[in-house]
Amino acid sequence: MAKDTSPACKQCRREGLKLYLKGERCLTDHCAIDRRSYGPGEHGRRRVKQTEYLAQLREKQKARRYYGLLEKQFRNYYEKANKQSGITGENLLKMLEMRLDNVVYRLGFAVSRRQARQLVLHGHFTVNGRRVNIPSYRVKPDDVVAVKENSPARDSISEATDLTASVSPWLQADHDNLSGVILKYPERDEIDVPVQEQFIVELYSK
Ligand code: SF4
Repeated sequence: MAKDTSPACKQCRREGLKLYLKGERCLTDHCAIDRRSYGPGEHGRRRVKQTEYLAQLREKQKARRYYGLLEKQFRNYYEKANKQSGITGENLLKMLEMRLDNVVYRLGFAVSRRQARQLVLHGHFTVNGRRVNIPSYRVKPDDVVAVKENSPARDSISEATDLTASVSPWLQADHDNLSGVILKYPERDEIDVPVQEQFIVELYSK
């Protein structure tokens, strides 16, 4: 399966904000954004002329990188969101939130979405009792996500829950039993991703 292999900290520096792609390290003073808050590369410190297109592009890249998706995957989500009723930008974020790798991260079972994706790929999680190893698997309300009973990763997943300050309000986590329930679809104000999704819609609808 294709994945974005560009260095995580470089992605944050490109977007000019913390995307929290490296888990625990992001909370320490080793974070590259805290140390070098300008863009990566030879011309990283240069002033870039702001245009409407650039603002739209940056919002799209930011969202895409937050969720760890390639351009084609992200575009597919947009196309599906655009076909649904309601506000396209919100539909897009809600669909991205319902991905299994994101839910595993939001429940506190991984320190980053990248780690969550790896754990799912390696078959450490079940949905409603059945093993699911597809990071993009879309969960729905009332689904139960749990760490597989005999998973060798149970200890490290348990350690990750110790670093979790809070769980999203649309989820319910049981860290003692390493399981969680999807209570409902998230509302926009329950998705703490600092992205102006309207810019993404404007970009793609050109
Ligand atoms: Fe981004 Fe984390 Fe690297 Fe900081 S440490 S730049 S938040 S990936």
